[in-house]
Amino acid sequence: MDNNQIWQAVLGEMELTLSKANFITWFKQTFISSFENDQIVIGVPNIFTKTWIERKYHKEILNSLENIVNTKIKQIFYKIEINKTEQLSEVFNKPTTQIAPDYNNTQQPITTNRFGLNSRYIFNNFIIGKGNELACAACHAVAANPGVAYNPLLIHGGVGLGKTHLLQAIGNLAIKTTTKVLYATSETFANDYINTVRGGQAKDFKDRYRNVDLLLIDDVQFMGGKDGTQEAFFHTFNDLHNNNKQIVITSDRNIKSIPALEKRLASRLSSGMTVDITLPDIETRIAILEKKCHEKNYSLSSDILNYIASHIQDSIRDLEGALNRIVVIHEFNNTLPTKESVEEILNDLLIAQKTKSITAKNIIEITARFYDISIKDLIGKRRQRELVVPRQIVMFLMREEGNISYPSIGQEIGGRDHTTAIHSYNKISELLKNSKKLKNEIESIKQLLYSVNV
Ligand code: ADP
Ligand code: MG
Repeated sequence: MDNNQIWQAVLGEMELTLSKANFITWFKQTFISSFENDQIVIGVPNIFTKTWIERKYHKEILNSLENIVNTKIKQIFYKIEINKTEQLSEVFNKPTTQIAPDYNNTQQPITTNRFGLNSRYIFNNFIIGKGNELACAACHAVAANPGVAYNPLLIHGGVGLGKTHLLQAIGNLAIKTTTKVLYATSETFANDYINTVRGGQAKDFKDRYRNVDLLLIDDVQFMGGKDGTQEAFFHTFNDLHNNNKQIVITSDRNIKSIPALEKRLASRLSSGMTVDITLPDIETRIAILEKKCHEKNYSLSSDILNYIASHIQDSIRDLEGALNRIVVIHEFNNTLPTKESVEEILNDLLIAQKTKSITAKNIIEITARFYDISIKDLIGKRRQRELVVPRQIVMFLMREEGNISYPSIGQEIGGRDHTTAIHSYNKISELLKNSKKLKNEIESIKQLLYSVNV
């Protein structure tokens, strides 16, 4: 049996003991991420599911697994990870009369139309406030007059602040007047490019990306280090631009600080209009919460809204996630939210957020400081052992603590391949089994990482 089959069998058993709604809520998007020797890592979509499964279903999962594989399992880890390669398990495709609560709709697979657009993201439900008003105005202008106002338009801003929402809103408005609209993440663009090159269908690729009036490319930072893709995008860009076709791009960081992004492409991307989305102020955060409550037909007192908005400041996605969590937990328990119950739910979330704020940059800086080597050496190409091990530790920590994908790790560490990141992760995991010294070192780095004032 492969991992997928094993997990299907476990799910089959779990399904028998749970209500359909519970089963779907907690086990959709779970999968076996790795199964080596007697250790198993189960991928779960978010911290909420992780906590819940650990608390409530761990024993059953363990029993069921041991039954199915017919060996003792020493440890089960639950790790937040999105399963990109596998289709959703078959068990979830069966028709169901009971619909699971949508406990965190930002994590659900998104349905899109042939333009790559999701009708949920429109200007009408986008709250304008300090931090996004300029970006929103520019997007409006571009949607109303593609190819005329600002070309390209580059939307720049931190994670979870509404870049994808605005980019998609442009598309959703524009398809009212033209059908030649295409939204793609830079990852989709890269995959399409690779596939067509492999299959020798360069023409299809060209048709797809150049026969448009409006091209929307999300998360361009992921093109860093992908030379072929960048080249293809550069030509696509020039072709569209020369023909006055509108291009809109988003990036979660300054174009200049995307590692391994070609200069000529970087300069083309910044050649039009750049708008920043910055953190929303408290009034905007409250307005967003009110709007989302209204959409859900749920009501929260202004006290509680205020409390949530003042505690979650960095990301609208997190704000939405917190609200979803509050709604679902109370609906699930059939209780009304109080200041105390909301406080408790947020506390869990804030702890999770602290974990989340571990960034690649942090890990690199702190590891460099810990081993007293320069960042340049740490992520550079030199192969001395004093550099190689810390470098591998950085990659290990990025995966373990930062939940960063292997390709992104490779990219952060001087544009290396994802296989290098995987190898480093395995290598350190292996060394950790026997080296007390290494274990202590990594513990110390982690302590530095998690202490606030370093
Ligand atoms: P990004 O692409 O910048 O990471 P998203 O566009 O995915 O962020 O936004 C995260 C979530 O927050 C989405 O569900 C989005 O609809 C919501 N959101 C972001 N900004 C706003 C806003 N100003 N008004 C309403 N919802 C918003
Ligand atoms: Mg986005």
